[in-house]
Amino acid sequence: MDAKMDIKAPRGVRDILPDESWKWAYVLDAVAKTMADFGHSEIHLPIFEQTELFSRGVGDTTDIVEKEMYTFVDRGDRSITLRPEATAGMVRAAIEHGLCEQNASAKLWCWGPMFRYERPQKGRYRQFFQIDAESLGLAGPVADVEIIALSAEIFRRLGLKNLEVVLNSVGCPNCRPLYRQKLIDHFSARKGELCETCLGRLERNPLRLLDCKKPECGAIADAAPPIYESLCEECAAHFEEVKAGLTRLNFSYKTDKRLVRGLDYYTKTAYEILSGDLGAQNAVCGGGRYDNLSESVGGPHLPGVGFAAGIDRIVLVMEQQGSAFGKRPGAEIYVAAQDDSGRCPEARSAAQVLTHSLRMAGIAAEQDAGDSLKGARAFKAQMKSASGSGAGWLCVLGPSELAQGAVTVKNLQSGEQFSIALQDALQGRGPWGRRPCSRQAE
Ligand code: AMP
Repeated sequence: MDAKMDIKAPRGVRDILPDESWKWAYVLDAVAKTMADFGHSEIHLPIFEQTELFSRGVGDTTDIVEKEMYTFVDRGDRSITLRPEATAGMVRAAIEHGLCEQNASAKLWCWGPMFRYERPQKGRYRQFFQIDAESLGLAGPVADVEIIALSAEIFRRLGLKNLEVVLNSVGCPNCRPLYRQKLIDHFSARKGELCETCLGRLERNPLRLLDCKKPECGAIADAAPPIYESLCEECAAHFEEVKAGLTRLNFSYKTDKRLVRGLDYYTKTAYEILSGDLGAQNAVCGGGRYDNLSESVGGPHLPGVGFAAGIDRIVLVMEQQGSAFGKRPGAEIYVAAQDDSGRCPEARSAAQVLTHSLRMAGIAAEQDAGDSLKGARAFKAQMKSASGSGAGWLCVLGPSELAQGAVTVKNLQSGEQFSIALQDALQGRGPWGRRPCSRQAE
């Protein structure tokens, strides 16, 4: 079919086609198992929320809220936003359902699409998918170390290579104002050398000045005082204990005084896991602690720490590194009908019944579902479909097989051929080796 259509997927969003989607299933299987091993339970969250959750939670002066949200007024006149990230929704759900009441903690995870109006490029999309894990109600550094270890363990199990854990502390409302002022002083002294974006950040969000990728601003940021000198006693001790915990667990990491995250809610720990194989969009995972997020959206005090990792990017890195994704699911057996140019319609019926029976026995089977009213397709065409299906076995049903109550079975790799009783095949038994079968002599 060569038909073309004018309507295309919107810019920055993409279809995850079957050639890729089975790799996602592999990744998500490993993720679900690792989450369970670390005590995180899955939660499904809505993909849209009240806009205020993000404007207050993520922060009014962040790029996400200022420029990237998909916000619309719904038919009930409410301002709604397609979620740009999952943490705020996770915290909202935990509070709404009392998951952390009476000092209880909740370790949760979810995955799904996020939406940001960003400039699309390889590894950066407007609809992208994240895995997200959060530990809520846990204030101590052990929870931070668990979260970092959980993300790193997912990547270890998936076989990702060439990764680096980068760590920083962004302080808390006690010590950050002092550091903020130090940054304003430092950058104001070299105001004339700053780019447009940094000039704006100097006014609205000075911490993000450390984040600029432009070399001229980067040099000024490199010379900025590190936050470590300004951390309050509690933040400094927390940071030391996170580092000690990582060392105890044998994780190598690098501290980076310029690591700040694009979301305002972070306190204390901030971290990223970077890939050496991703070019400009090199972060596969980002996270940290957000002890004041709940209060900023009108909730109770609820400390938390978590991470988000991009599935699109994980799969991209794995493809680039030639990682294994397990076996692609597909037909194990292809059932072909030889209906003697339409003179033996029973062969087609038997093929249909056999295919369904094999499936009911838990064996992935495919059949010639072509122009059945006109008769089975030419045997050659069916063989082409059989080899295209990736099946390892072929079952043939024609007039002679039906006369003998048999099925001809061919191993498509070795070419070896058998005749087995149709009754056996209908119960899923055959040389494909699930269960013993009674073979008939050729
Ligand atoms: P963030 O929520 O910005 O901290 O991002 C966490 C992770 O989500 C990143 O490390 C990426 O792997 C992924 N990610 C963020 N934005 C995008 C995007 N626009 N397209 C694809 N992946 C993204």
